[in-house]
Amino acid sequence: MSGYVLHVGRLAAPGGVLDDAYLVVEQGRLVSTGTGAPPGTDGPVVDLPGLLAAPGFIDVHVHGGGGFEVNRPTVAEVSRSVVGMARFHVAHGTTALLATTVSDSAEALLTAVEGVADVVLSPDGPGAGAQVLGSHLEGPWIAPSRAGAQYPAAIRPPSVSELSSLVARSRGTVRLVTLAPEVPGATEVVRAAASAGVVVSIGHTDADADAARAAFDAGARHVTHLFNAMPPVHHRRPGPVPVALADDRVFVELIADGVHVHPTVISVVAAAAPDRLVLITDAIGATGAGPGRYRLGPLEVLVERDRAVLADHPETVAGSVLTMDRAVAFAVNSAGVPLEVALRAASLHPATVLGETAKGRLAPGADADIVLLDEDLGVAGTIVAGRVAHDPGGLLASLAGDRG
Ligand SMILES: [Zn+2]
Repeated sequence: MSGYVLHVGRLAAPGGVLDDAYLVVEQGRLVSTGTGAPPGTDGPVVDLPGLLAAPGFIDVHVHGGGGFEVNRPTVAEVSRSVVGMARFHVAHGTTALLATTVSDSAEALLTAVEGVADVVLSPDGPGAGAQVLGSHLEGPWIAPSRAGAQYPAAIRPPSVSELSSLVARSRGTVRLVTLAPEVPGATEVVRAAASAGVVVSIGHTDADADAARAAFDAGARHVTHLFNAMPPVHHRRPGPVPVALADDRVFVELIADGVHVHPTVISVVAAAAPDRLVLITDAIGATGAGPGRYRLGPLEVLVERDRAVLADHPETVAGSVLTMDRAVAFAVNSAGVPLEVALRAASLHPATVLGETAKGRLAPGADADIVLLDEDLGVAGTIVAGRVAHDPGGLLASLAGDRG
């Protein structure tokens, strides 16, 4: 079969949501989209009148899921774990992700980026999972005073030579780095990363407004979980948050789980920066694995129903147990974010951050990375590069074995 057609009730197209629409998929790409009766084809046509087709979710900040986490002791275990988390998250609509490390020893981070690279560069990728686009280094070059759930002993001064070693060992698959720009030596790393094509995000930082502005001027373009692990907003000492929201060059992450950020604040950010909001999960390995005790890198974490906290400091939130489908649903249903803004924040905006121009939109020529959502924004199916990766109800059974 050369391809197939999805005929859906609604389609989240770049210009807005269309009713009664179709998508033609061939060779892993979208070749056409439109409304009304789908064009004739020699492949199957799947009728999904109750579903909304949206661009697959892209999670640029995720440490694990389904019992798997990125920080593991050997290269082979990292790779196996990253494949496991990619398969877990694809069932929640994520079609691409950055495997995100937490602060750890120099050797442990080299091991992690090598294990991630093995998955990114393997011809099979993670098999039926979300595509792994590379790694995101969250730390170790952060502010000790804003460690949050990062292991304090692993936090160290920014180093251009350590960055170079990590980029080399990753064979160029380090895509994003979170650092504190006010720490001595950070500006050199911001410049080196930006010129190496690594996106710089400020986070776990004590930067004031001036330091944040200087970081953006030096090349930082992203903020890691806005509001969390940084100075709060004060009307006379604004801190980094308003500077980021006012700067058109800068994308801002939010953990939309109702635990990390109040829904009212989510709605304010979505209104202030609707084209620069990036929904992330910050999910840890325990996500989807139930309550209990788990690890986040070197630290022990206690997981309750909807939150993860440090076992030794239960007042510190330690990553999340969020998934992208729930993040989108929470933003829309609990924070009142318009559906189209929430969907773009989960797809187009993270794709733009990474310069992935073939992702994040359902338009001709784009990768056929598609999430099918029901009325409640639950995931009814996930397609990665044209291949069915998640089909809980068997709606896409006629595409089984078809490479699209
Ligand atoms: Zn994180």
